[in-house]
Amino acid sequence: MGLVVAMDGPSGSGKSSVSRGVARALGLRYLDTGAMYRAVTWWMLDRGVDVEDASLVAARAHEPVLTMGTDPDKPGVSVGDTDVAGPIRSAEVTKAVSAVSAVPAVRTRLVEMQREIIGDGGIVVEGRDIGTVVAPDAPVKIYLTASEQARAERRTAEQAGTDVAATQADLARRDRLDSSRAISPLTRADGAVEIDTTEYTLDEVIAEVLRLINE
Ligand code: C5P
Repeated sequence: MGLVVAMDGPSGSGKSSVSRGVARALGLRYLDTGAMYRAVTWWMLDRGVDVEDASLVAARAHEPVLTMGTDPDKPGVSVGDTDVAGPIRSAEVTKAVSAVSAVPAVRTRLVEMQREIIGDGGIVVEGRDIGTVVAPDAPVKIYLTASEQARAERRTAEQAGTDVAATQADLARRDRLDSSRAISPLTRADGAVEIDTTEYTLDEVIAEVLRLINE
């Protein structure tokens, strides 16, 4: 089995940038599991499914056909024939994704797909439940955090035209939902090393993760 790095943490903690940087440095694949929950959410909204109704979401959870790219330089995501890399970052999807990701039928299907993609390893996997549920035996587990303010500032810098206060409120809402849901809530996995990235640059955090991998 090749190396599996499980990278969990709340929104804006730096998971994507750190995971991609580590995968690039080591020549590993990269899987963004948040993009999978977003892609299913995009599909539900596109089909007019009321995402607040868990039984409707569950009934259709098996329908969207996802294709995930695992190149850290160009991690594509498609639903059917549609490239949804852009649309899954929209405000509508971001607002709806926590409700969809709390539906057990959605999680069962995506976790199975994530394990298939992990396969023989050689991959950095980022999400909320990688170290707890998807790959609890991963030899390297990281839990990234950062202050709410730092996370909101990073997200605002990524998305032109948004303001820090609104972004901070949205992150807080999503973290609350993701941490309090009945199934696979966001929590630090047993054996995960917590890194608070508030005071560190991206390169410093990548270097720290590479150091932990080599320990
Ligand atoms: O990481 P990102 O912000 O793109 O994730 C979007 C949403 O997908 C999260 O707010 C969470 O509800 C859900 N998610 C999850 N489990 C994962 C990854 C993401 O529930 N492993």
